[in-house]
Amino acid sequence: MKKIGILGSTGSIGTQTLEVIRTQKDIEVVSLTAGSNIDFLEQQIREFCPRIAAVASEEKARALSLRVSDTSTKIVSGMEGLIEAATEPSAEIIVTAIVGMIGIRPTIAAMEAKKDIALANKETLVTAGHIIMPLARKMGVSILPVDSEHSAIFQSLNGENRERIHKIILTASGGPFRGKTREQMKQIRVEDALKHPNWTMGQKITIDSSTMVNKGLEVMEAKWLFGVSLDQIEVVIQPQSVIHSMVEYEDGAVIAQLGTPDMKLPIQYALYYPDRRYLPGARLDFAALRQITFEAPDLENFKGLALAYEVGRKGGNAPTVFNAANEKAVELFLKRQIGYLDITDLIEECVARIPWRSNPSVEGILDTERETHEYIQAMRLPKGRN
Ligand code: NAD
Ligand code: MG
Repeated sequence: MKKIGILGSTGSIGTQTLEVIRTQKDIEVVSLTAGSNIDFLEQQIREFCPRIAAVASEEKARALSLRVSDTSTKIVSGMEGLIEAATEPSAEIIVTAIVGMIGIRPTIAAMEAKKDIALANKETLVTAGHIIMPLARKMGVSILPVDSEHSAIFQSLNGENRERIHKIILTASGGPFRGKTREQMKQIRVEDALKHPNWTMGQKITIDSSTMVNKGLEVMEAKWLFGVSLDQIEVVIQPQSVIHSMVEYEDGAVIAQLGTPDMKLPIQYALYYPDRRYLPGARLDFAALRQITFEAPDLENFKGLALAYEVGRKGGNAPTVFNAANEKAVELFLKRQIGYLDITDLIEECVARIPWRSNPSVEGILDTERETHEYIQAMRLPKGRN
């Protein structure tokens, strides 16, 4: 039985990973981690009997520990606990379904302990790709993409010579505000931004999808995963979310992966690669679908995507500034402390102001994160527009 650990098991990707495991029945879950939802984590511990489970807060970990004292699961807490769960000796694959840069240290620790990574946590690769990718080669571990677009590209690369990639075409739904101008987006409230047309996901990525910052992060994620330059990555809007992404080769052939929008497919593909197991669920019905349409992305009204290309080209700590500013801005927007357009305005301001540094270490990346958060904190925040 394959043994896996899941960082962020109570979230959208975490619970869908456990659904896949529940259906397939031949994977053993050896570690689980969660931020704060200990009620849900307790249920998961009772169902999957992991050897270890980590919770972010020490206090909640203590409470959980009492509740599951009748089980053999060891409960740990904090970053130390997260790393212990990520490096559980028996784990072969770690699914990084945690959200944000908090994933950097445990992902690196898991790789150093020779675990393969099923990577959903794109923020880690965007900010520390220059450390993660060489480390994967050094340790001989695989990084298997879980993000649907990157899984589609990975599937479109099967049996092909990667040297012959001409470009990668990342598809995007365009989110709920596709076609709107900045003027029309001024009054957007949290409730509006949390409605994605095709996917049900965690709150942060749902906001990121609406601003197109998610696509910007994915452009940088693709650069690291597939070793291409940013000029080789093109974004195209495909509102039905049927084509999950494509690769164009030197001879002009374009290979794509299509399917209904269901994250269980890329999750299952990462867990069983290169096998394709039966996956219950809706299938594409082309006659009912009738058409798939395309548009160019609107880089003026959705400046997060243009900024992502800019920081991706700059490299160094610039992607960290972009990502850390976005994480903070989305948190403030969700707390209704800033308006919707302030999210990308704050990213733009931080990218322009925070000093650039080349080739940051993990410490350097976390310093830039702190610096960016402090910069935002110190600014006189614009009044919330909600
Ligand atoms: P989510 O918010 O639903 O879940 C996040 C998980 O991380 C939860 O288990 C939460 O408890 C845990 N967590 C959050 N903060 C933590 C902290 N400080 N310490 C420890 N644990 C913490 O998020 P999600 O939508 O599942 O996304 C997870 C990652 O996968 C993100 O990087 C996202 O960009 C990526 N992703 C998600 C989807 C999707 O469909 N949801 C698709 C592609 C990529
Ligand atoms: Mg995606």
